[in-house]
Amino acid sequence: MLPLILLSQVAMSIALPTPQCDLNKIIIAGGEYSLTNGTNVGSTVQYTCPEGKYPHPSYSQECLPNGNWSKQKAKPECKAVQCPRPVMFESGEFYPRKDRYFVGDVLEFECWGGFKMFGPVNRTCQPNGKWSGENTICDDQEGDCPNPGIPPGARKVGDSYKIENTVKYTCEPRMELFGSKERVCKEDKSWSGAEPSCRYWYTFDTPKEVAESFTAHLSETIEASDPDKVEDQAYRAIKVQTGGLMNIFIIMDASKSVGVDNFNTAKDVSVVFIERMASYDFIPRYSVISYASFAKPAVLLSDDDSTDAEAVIERIKNLKYSEHEDKQGTNTRAALYEVHKMLSLQNVRDPKKFMETRNVILLMTDGKHNMGGDPNLEMKYIRQMLNIRKNNTREDYLDVYVFGLGDETDNNEINELASKKNPEKHVFKMQSISDMLTAFDEMLDVAEILQMCGLSREFPPDQEEDVQEKFPWIAKITITRAGSEEKCKGSIVSKFFILTAAHCFYIDDALHAITVKVGDKTFKVKNLHRHEKYDPAGKQDKKVPNSFDYDVALIELEKNIEFSRKIRPMCLPCTTGTSWALKQRGKSVKCADHVQTLLSGELVKAMFIAEEKEKAFQRKDVFIKRENKRLACLDDTKKIEKFKDIPDIKDAVTDNFLCTGGIEPEVDPQTCKGDSGGPLVVPFKRRFIQVGIISWGTINSCNGSKRKPGPVPALSRDFHTDVSRMLDWIREKLKEEGLEFLD
Ligand code: MN
Repeated sequence: MLPLILLSQVAMSIALPTPQCDLNKIIIAGGEYSLTNGTNVGSTVQYTCPEGKYPHPSYSQECLPNGNWSKQKAKPECKAVQCPRPVMFESGEFYPRKDRYFVGDVLEFECWGGFKMFGPVNRTCQPNGKWSGENTICDDQEGDCPNPGIPPGARKVGDSYKIENTVKYTCEPRMELFGSKERVCKEDKSWSGAEPSCRYWYTFDTPKEVAESFTAHLSETIEASDPDKVEDQAYRAIKVQTGGLMNIFIIMDASKSVGVDNFNTAKDVSVVFIERMASYDFIPRYSVISYASFAKPAVLLSDDDSTDAEAVIERIKNLKYSEHEDKQGTNTRAALYEVHKMLSLQNVRDPKKFMETRNVILLMTDGKHNMGGDPNLEMKYIRQMLNIRKNNTREDYLDVYVFGLGDETDNNEINELASKKNPEKHVFKMQSISDMLTAFDEMLDVAEILQMCGLSREFPPDQEEDVQEKFPWIAKITITRAGSEEKCKGSIVSKFFILTAAHCFYIDDALHAITVKVGDKTFKVKNLHRHEKYDPAGKQDKKVPNSFDYDVALIELEKNIEFSRKIRPMCLPCTTGTSWALKQRGKSVKCADHVQTLLSGELVKAMFIAEEKEKAFQRKDVFIKRENKRLACLDDTKKIEKFKDIPDIKDAVTDNFLCTGGIEPEVDPQTCKGDSGGPLVVPFKRRFIQVGIISWGTINSCNGSKRKPGPVPALSRDFHTDVSRMLDWIREKLKEEGLEFLD
């Protein structure tokens, strides 16, 4: 008998087909599905449902080696999203009272006599499973702390709000608590921890919610890291004196449960995050860690280039999901241990600076640690090391943001790890990881730091551009004269001033005849300052019929400009703002350093902005010709008929002009009449610095303000007033504008 059994077993294992999962079991009622690898073992099915519905029992299922889908027992269907039902509401009423609330349902609140309402009267159930607005609270204001409220879906124990009193929260079954389970009324009459909320597993944060709460708080943190913080909220320039006052740890879970797609998107998200950070006026020190069974730091805080955003980005891009061979493990604690080690090293090297450094941890994981022990324990050690204790003010020195990766995040675990602070949010769970990308992309839109110079929003190729957000520093100038209108451009350089060309104006132009438009706002002119040395007829003895030397003017506006994401200032060389944009720090940075960075070598990549049609600004890339290449500009100018009789061409093209145009090394687009006064700009990383003011050209091949089609004449050259040579004059006129010019 024995051999026969063996034989039959062998035969069976040979005959055993590779299992396939049953396609019928994943057809979802009311929704759609997609498979990563057909019905093969290891393939994942992902469900999508229409807005306001969610896939039950989960967003995805996996084809298991036994030929069953994970969670196969429940037949997949799209179910209606519910918002949590208010189970307790203190000192008031709400209507209607129902067992279940669906998307679009509206709750109306009312407070009893003697109680004041905080929060909205009405709240609407939204497609992401959350009620609109903040929690509605009825408070008699008798406590030391305000009534902390009860979020829908929660019960609260404790109704006395004196200092040291505690309230505790629990969520109804099938819901998870985000935020703090327990809060204490503190000495300063505010509640400890973060406001709780109850969520069903399918509830998610929208990109807008994340961008708003995440960046609003982070920009405060950046500003707080400024030792010389200007208290005036209206002028919030950030001036971190030296780099390294903020550490940012980016930690990415590369374990099997996360999957390669989510890991790659986490990489993209990190890159966008760093790029956005790099456009603020501060320079953090980065660390990047990926982990599965083990943690692998890709960038250490102590690395020489850990403050170099581009180098850090490069190393993130090179990270591979496959670097973590043993993917079964999820050792979140090991990743936090790396953070702990790096902080210890920093502490040993410079304890004073260490204690002044703020720390941000950005953890992207689905939770579900399964080895290495409790990650919260490591977090506790990190807090100890930073000397963060209950009731001391050092909470500001650590922010732990946790982003739930994937649909099957362990909400409890990510909530535990995230910071709990009042009123900020630190834990986010999004419907898809690409929503995270959108959230970070929107960060600049909501940033409060608007006076930062030379910013521009970039638009991906598949998205329609908002030219005003792309070129937020361009001003349009109109001069109305008897029977005609002249158009010029300018650049916003401060709240009250527009930099432009002097030749746009006649000596007898009335101020009321000049209007300035920025974005969709029109401004009246208080004063027009033209350079005292600008004198068109001043070089006739040198046979220059019309001199443009010192072609610079500043328009002073009657009212100040309100900066917004559509209206922002341009960077001028030799200002502190430009030091930030150029990432040149410290007191030793001189004006000459800016000029050296912006204008060196024979060819400098630059651009100007042309308005081909109404509301259709276009970037035109050109090369500034310097040194020998500039001499060629002069030679070409001499060859042109109307300049032939000038004995010394340098009287027309003085050293105060930058030269663009011509056909070498590339054909430069020409400037046209309406471009006059506009900025010639050098892009530096993601910032823009004005080096010239469009002044005049040798050949006019434009039709009014439009470039003629066809080849650009080879001898065509454009000249721009060199801003760096006009700085004494500009500085004097802008001395009240807070630009902080360098020596
Ligand atoms: Mn995992």
